[in-house]
Parts: sequence; structure tokens; C-alpha cells
Amino acid sequence: MVIGRLAETALDAAGALGHAVTDVFDPTLRLGVTGLSRAGKTVFVTSLVANLVDRGRMPGLHAGPRIEAAFLQPQPDDAVPRFDYETNLAALTGAAPHWPEGTRSISTLRLSVRSRQGGMLAGLRGARTLHVDIVDYPGEWLLDLALLPLDYEAWSARALGRLTAWGAGGYRAALETARPDAPMEEPEARRLAVAYAAALGAAREAGAFDLTPGRFLLPGEMEGSPALTFAPLPPSEAPRGSLAREFARRFEAYKSRVVRPFFREHFARIDRQVVLVDVLEALRRGPRAMEELQEAVTDILRAFNPGRTGWLLSLVGGRRIDRILFAATKADHLHHAQHARLEAILERIVRAARDRADFAGAETRTVALAALRATTEEEREVGGERVGLVRGTLEDGRAVALSPGDLPDDPARLVPGPEGRWLDGDYDVMRFRPAPHTLRRGDGPPHIRMDRAAEFLIGDRL
Ligand code: GDP
Repeated sequence: MVIGRLAETALDAAGALGHAVTDVFDPTLRLGVTGLSRAGKTVFVTSLVANLVDRGRMPGLHAGPRIEAAFLQPQPDDAVPRFDYETNLAALTGAAPHWPEGTRSISTLRLSVRSRQGGMLAGLRGARTLHVDIVDYPGEWLLDLALLPLDYEAWSARALGRLTAWGAGGYRAALETARPDAPMEEPEARRLAVAYAAALGAAREAGAFDLTPGRFLLPGEMEGSPALTFAPLPPSEAPRGSLAREFARRFEAYKSRVVRPFFREHFARIDRQVVLVDVLEALRRGPRAMEELQEAVTDILRAFNPGRTGWLLSLVGGRRIDRILFAATKADHLHHAQHARLEAILERIVRAARDRADFAGAETRTVALAALRATTEEEREVGGERVGLVRGTLEDGRAVALSPGDLPDDPARLVPGPEGRWLDGDYDVMRFRPAPHTLRRGDGPPHIRMDRAAEFLIGDRL
């Protein structure tokens, strides 16, 4: 079977089982999927769902044999866009496979999993349905939690400092003609906001992660609204009605109209969370990007700190996230002999973040995975040594077999080479296309360790 048909299979199964499976008493698990832009959220959600619907490649999901069916259902959130599973799956698995559009905003999808119960009472209890509500949202939005305690002046100082550190000269140039104490004019506000957003984009390209406001990078449905039309300014004694005063007001509006509602309505209702991290990309960019990644993971863990988010929980009835999975994505870029090292690097980042975030809450775990395996492996003799390679087709159509060089076996030895880089030049060209596949009936798309991820995230609840 060609995997392009999997989406149809899922819908057919849902139709066949009909309403019998929708019961208000059925348990629900809200699974958050986040990570910074291009970390792999869209591909992860698509592959997770496809591999739960067709479980042939999920031996590590222990409840697998007890599952009778997994199928999509209408989601309960009427006001949130639906995750476009069918289009994404068709992109990944159609006749000319390509990567889908990445996550730009929040979306949700309900997957219902009907399974027979295990254990001593198995014969007495009938099948049970667990609704897994998957909530996919940009990791950039989480970093905005750090804005809540800041006022506009404090945030401006911090934001300008970060831009300077990342050499974002464009916004400094835009500021030269700005007059914070002049009367507020919308075209001027827009000019500065656009220049600031462009500077954030450039800093992101250069390897910076911790950039705020998160909606400037991924505006979602708020694009162009006044709450997103402000920018940091140097300190001034600005009078009422001035640009600086209006920016300060809009900064507060951003916090109250954008940041708080997101945390209250979405984030605070999540039960379990997966945080996807493109460790390989940060490694490729060098030591500074790795430090930034460490900061970003620390900030993300702070957001999940139950003490800190207590005010949110009190609004929604005390739900708590009890498991967080950190996943290093795109592990198919490496020969499997290197996967344990990739995992060890992420493990080290998460451990350091836990210490610094003063985190005592959910159980955390790390895994190196590929949501969609785009390569195959081979070994070759090079200069008398066996080298593990990955083979695939690059985005430009060239078929290649590459070895990106060895990751250090001890992450404590992650120190930069002579040019401040860890991986050799091959790495820059490693953007593989998804490979065309023909699957046996019952098999989901090829992956690496998605079954381990699913086991940790939902296995015990099935
Ligand atoms: P998002 O912005 O977090 O939603 O990221 P996407 O899911 O759109 O992934 C961003 C890009 O990463 C994709 O376009 C692919 O190029 C690459 N990618 C994501 N997952 C995988 C994977 O499992 N294997 C490989 N080789 N590339 C991946």
C-alpha cells in the first residue's frame, strides 16, 4: 500500500465505528507538541498519528497488541484551527514526496484510541477509548512567559542588548531616525515594528533562540494588529501621546491580550508535553548556538515549573503536566551508531536546564528520533576504517551517501574545533527529501523511535 492512502484509512475507520466511541465519560489526554520553528513539529504530529493508526512499525508501544482501532474524530475546540493532517500526510507520502509547511500557529487534532484493557480484570472490562487531543504550537510562544514580570523599559533594555549581542545592525540603523518623545504616528510605529521583526529574524538565522516577543517571529492570527506593532526603544522622558508611551501601552496589551490568553486557554490545559529540539542544527551552527539552545531549554522548563505557573493552574482547576519528553529530531541524518551520542548531548542540556530552572515537577525523558526517516544506512571502508554513512536524496535531487563526522562520545567534550565548529562541512548540505515508499498494509511511515516516544507519552494511559 502506498502511504498516501493512510489518511483515508483513518477516516474510514472513524466512520465505521461512528458515534459508539464518543462518550463524554471517555478519558482525554491533552498532548502538547512544541519546539522552535523548523524543529520538526508538523512532521512529528503527522507521523505520530499515522503510526498510531497503522501500528506495524510501533513494536515499542507495549499496548499496541491491545489496540483495536485508532481514528480521527472532530476536535472539541471549536475556536482553534484543526491540524491539517491529511494535507501534511499527502505531502510526505504522495507520489512526489515533499516536506509540508511547518507550524505557524496553534492547531489541534483529536485521535481516539480504542483498546482492550490489560491486567487481571482484562476479561471483565470491555474496550475503552482514550481521546488524545494533540495541540501543536510554536515554541517561540512559550518564551513569552519571560515577558510577564517585565515592564516595557526593562524589556526594551533586554531586547536591545540581545540584538546588539547578535550584531543585528539593521534595527540600530532604524532607531537612528526614531524620536521616542515625538507624537505617536502609526506609519512610524509600523516602520520600527517591521525593522525589529526583521532583526529578530536575522538573529534567529544566525543561531539565536531566545528572542521576544515570540509572536513577532510567528504572529499567527494576530499579524498586523496594534498589539504586535511596537518595538524596543532606548530610555527617554517621553510625554503622554508620544511614540514611547504608546509602545509601552501596546507592550502591556501584548501581555494581557496575547500572552496570558494563550497560557490560560491552551498551555495550562496540557497534560503531557513533547518538546522537539533540533540539536544537530545547533551543533552545526557552533558553540554559541549550543549555548542559546541551553538557555531556550532552561526557559522552556521554567514555563513548565508548577510553582511558577501556579497562577495559571488556579484559573483552570489545577491540571498539571506530569511528563515531558525532550526529543532530538532528524536523527536519520546520522548513522545509528551515533544516536546514543546525540541523545547524550540532549540529556546533558536537559539536566543542566533542570538544575538552573529550579525544576521539580514532571518526569522528563530524552530520546533521539526521526519522525520521518528519509535515509537508509550503509557502511563503507574508507582509508582502512569502517565508516557508517546515511544515504538519501538531497533537496536538489542529488543522491548522496554522507557521513557528517563523529559526535563526541562524551558530551562533556563538546568543545569547538579550530574554526569554532563541531561537525565537518558535509553537514551543511544535509537536507534530505522524504523518500518515496511503498508500505505493507498496516505499516505507518518509516521512522526512528517514534514508538518509544509514544510509549512514554501515552502508553500508560491506553
Ligand atoms: P516545524 O516548523 O517545527 O513544524 O518543523 P517541520 O515539521 O515543518 O520540519 C522542518 C523541516 O525539518 C522539514 O521541512 C524537514 O526538512 C526537516 N525534518 C523534520 N522532520 C524530519 C525527519 O524526521 N527527518 C528528516 N530528515 N528531516 C526532517
